[in-house]
Amino acid sequence: MKKTNNEWDGPFFKETQSTFERVAKAISLDENIALRLRVPERALIVSVPFRMDSGKVELVTGYRVQHNDTLGPYKGGLRYHPHVNLGEVAALAMMMTWKSAIIGLPLGGAKGGVAIDPIPLSRQELQRLTRRFTIEILNFIGPDSDVPAPDMGTNEQVMAWIMDTYSQQKGHSVPGVVTGKPIDIGGSLGRKEAPGRGVVYTIISAAEKIKMRLDSKIRVAVQGFGQVGAAAARKMEKIGCKVVAVSDVSGGVYNANGLRYDSMMAYLAQNKVLRGYPEGDFITNEQLLEIDCDVLIPAAIERVIHKDNARKLKCKILAEGANGPTTNEADHIIRDRGDIFVVPDVLANAGGVVVSYFEWVQDLQNLFWKEKEINHRLWEMMSDAFEKVYTTSQKEKVDMRTAALMVAIRKISTSMLTRGLYP
Ligand code: NAD
Repeated sequence: MKKTNNEWDGPFFKETQSTFERVAKAISLDENIALRLRVPERALIVSVPFRMDSGKVELVTGYRVQHNDTLGPYKGGLRYHPHVNLGEVAALAMMMTWKSAIIGLPLGGAKGGVAIDPIPLSRQELQRLTRRFTIEILNFIGPDSDVPAPDMGTNEQVMAWIMDTYSQQKGHSVPGVVTGKPIDIGGSLGRKEAPGRGVVYTIISAAEKIKMRLDSKIRVAVQGFGQVGAAAARKMEKIGCKVVAVSDVSGGVYNANGLRYDSMMAYLAQNKVLRGYPEGDFITNEQLLEIDCDVLIPAAIERVIHKDNARKLKCKILAEGANGPTTNEADHIIRDRGDIFVVPDVLANAGGVVVSYFEWVQDLQNLFWKEKEINHRLWEMMSDAFEKVYTTSQKEKVDMRTAALMVAIRKISTSMLTRGLYP
């Protein structure tokens, strides 16, 4: 395969790219298509000045990377985290392309972010940062071209400020410019819980395949208690399983008898982080991953399952709520072990983009659906995609991650060949 310059360098991008190359080779992907897909189509790097409450001006770096739009407008989240960099955003943009294609959405893949820790910022500082970042990427985004959504460190409120800033510039309301907005300004019912709910839907499908009964004996561990992790923990509790461990950036908590979702949320509302939560024992994030459990849901950051702990995992199902939680080396070890059913990130956490797609469609049509309908359609799309990937894995005798990428790359490749190369 011909190589191009690698401006996107970084461990996460290199690994995401090498996974693509491994699968491209396995399916004998057309060389010209492979050349195009191994790097993003476009990237924008911006400097974002914004005023702190003290009056001082801070300058941070922001990114928007568009990987592929063969199937439809670019779609992907915006992350506020101190480690955000071009390589990370490019990797996540590529994964968004695969995700949309696996599910069968008429959307492409993009991602963006700002290298900043949002936690210490005041509400006003966060708002000024978000509005200025929106202006810097304004010509890059739009309901027909590129539609951002929440990701780590951003939320409904951040989406509302982006939507408002964009609309002010256009002179009229444009709700379809972002998804994951509050309901009262064009958000969709069910969007907030969708990524976590989708993770659980894939766990239900996986459990069926390995004949695991999801009852009160099933012990669940969740790393990351944010939008994805908390919603997944809640849904696992709702379907009758026992969530024995959860964690956030401050560390984790373990209780063999089960942790209570509502009580943890109440504690978080008061204390911002889980540290000090009284109804369990303190554990570290590393210990959480190695805990004796049936279902492990890493739903925080990337590269937490690596060569040093992959052999120590004790779960039977690993459902990747986060993007890229498993390094390639660890993935190899887990494949060799053969005793863990892996639901890869591009499938497991696709519920977010599915309901984002529903939100975008509702905004464009100005017609809103009931929550029951949304959850039902989400279930249908997630279980169809799961079945498609599982069938491919059986037919081609490959693991679920390889199968998921096979499904995605074949679909995009067929569409790219049909559309042809411009000019
Ligand atoms: P979030 O900001 O809502 O929550 C992140 C959680 O992880 C928080 O509890 C935080 O304390 C914890 N955390 C942060 N750094 C950590 C560390 N070093 N160790 C342990 N925990 C840490 O973010 P989110 O939106 O839930 O995103 C989590 C993951 O899920 C990311 O990989 C994201 O890309 C992915 N994802 C998010 C969505 C979405 O719609 N929000 C959709 C699909 C995938």
